[in-house]
Amino acid sequence: MRVVILGAGPAGLSVAERLRELAPVGDVDLDVVYDEPFPPYSPPAMADHFLTGRDAPLYWKGTDVLERLGATHHRAACRSVDPAARRVELTSGATLDYNRLVIATGSRLHAEVPGVELAGVHDFKSLRTATALVDRARRGEVTSALIVGAGFIGVEVALLLADLGLQVTIISRRWVMPRGVDPETGEVVRAALQGRGVAVLMYQPAEAFEGDTEVEALRIAGGERLRADVYVAATGVKPNLECLAGSGLAMDWGVTVDDDLRTSEVDVYAAGDVAETRDLLTGERYVHAIFPNAVAQGRIVAERLVGLDPVYAGAESMNSLKHLGVPVVAAGVPSGEELCLRDGPVLRKLFVDDGRITGFQLAGDIRGAGVYRRLMLTHADVRGYGPHLLEPTFGAGAIAMQAMAGVG
Ligand SMILES: Cc1cc2nc3c(=O)[nH]c(=O)nc-3n(C[C@H](O)[C@H](O)[C@H](O)COP(=O)(O)OP(=O)(O)OC[C@H]3O[C@@H](n4cnc5c(N)ncnc54)[C@H](O)[C@@H]3O)c2cc1C
Repeated sequence: MRVVILGAGPAGLSVAERLRELAPVGDVDLDVVYDEPFPPYSPPAMADHFLTGRDAPLYWKGTDVLERLGATHHRAACRSVDPAARRVELTSGATLDYNRLVIATGSRLHAEVPGVELAGVHDFKSLRTATALVDRARRGEVTSALIVGAGFIGVEVALLLADLGLQVTIISRRWVMPRGVDPETGEVVRAALQGRGVAVLMYQPAEAFEGDTEVEALRIAGGERLRADVYVAATGVKPNLECLAGSGLAMDWGVTVDDDLRTSEVDVYAAGDVAETRDLLTGERYVHAIFPNAVAQGRIVAERLVGLDPVYAGAESMNSLKHLGVPVVAAGVPSGEELCLRDGPVLRKLFVDDGRITGFQLAGDIRGAGVYRRLMLTHADVRGYGPHLLEPTFGAGAIAMQAMAGVG
């Protein structure tokens, strides 16, 4: 059997690794199509890599992983997919025939701000683009940076550039991390950013990057122009679907998959940021662009490729900030009643609907996050915990109670 995997990000690599655990070389020929000038890497580890120089977390499976897995590496991108002929065409002009195809082409910057294509507007979505940005900062050519978008990638880039000595301003059209946390938790993040020397402009929609060929300013609502030495767009991500045009595969914002991660075409699967998967809690289908989902989906796909019948419970929604100085973690899709504990720098929120946790946001003290997550995912009834639920020390006691009650 010949398996072709498009992409070697966390999703594609997880498919390859799990597949090799299940099917030795000889049983399955594995072809990985991947066109970046680096070994496969972990995007969440990029900031740490630039700050510390450490390679190990970045090249999380080792720099020789594709060789070790006995995969044939095609240094090209996929140009088109023909499911009827079971063939993909590469940008090198080569074609590959497959028995099973995995689409794991991930995502890239999504920016609806005009002028984003101007020279000098950077993004931090791939190791290549992130390296170009950091190289400019390190060469001492630039002393100030303007980041558009205050989601978790924007916040991470702001902290990195501040640590590299730049004067950083981050601009958000709503509050800080609006898709991950509510305004009150966002305020904790904003204050921590300010404490790290990052200026934060909120409720300021970016209208356009301006310049002839090179960016010279960012125009914001009201016509004011903001200037910096370096500009970064961190306005969100969108799935890489271009090579699927004309393939007949069902797509919406991402590739449409069923609960077994099968696409609309026979023997074609999709995993990771490119796929629209079912939310474990709400049942809604959308692109859940986080690392643990990509890895979990990759493993499920690999098991399906060899004929196993694993159950994929669904994708999770979770965000955390690693370098802020204040621990922050948010999960779920909050609805229902808000339970809140405010204690100086600590903010802990749980959202409970009909006795079930639908989401949580913890800042300053994230103890218990693992327990809340488990209670949330198992739809456990938490009414019995009363006011103790919010206490930072809740975790240990709850685990014991859970075990006694046999929850999860
Ligand atoms: C700076 C940053 C920080 C992050 N931090 C976190 C975090 O803290 N926690 C968390 O959970 N998530 C985080 N994420 C998100 C996480 O990295 C992604 O969800 C994850 O990388 C998705 O994996 P993927 O393999 O689906 O896609 P990607 O990582 O996007 O990989 C896609 C792969 O496909 C390849 N490819 C693209 N187009 C083609 C083509 N046409 N042909 C062949 N190959 C192609 C690419 O080269 C790449 O190898 C972060 C992301 C970034 C950018």
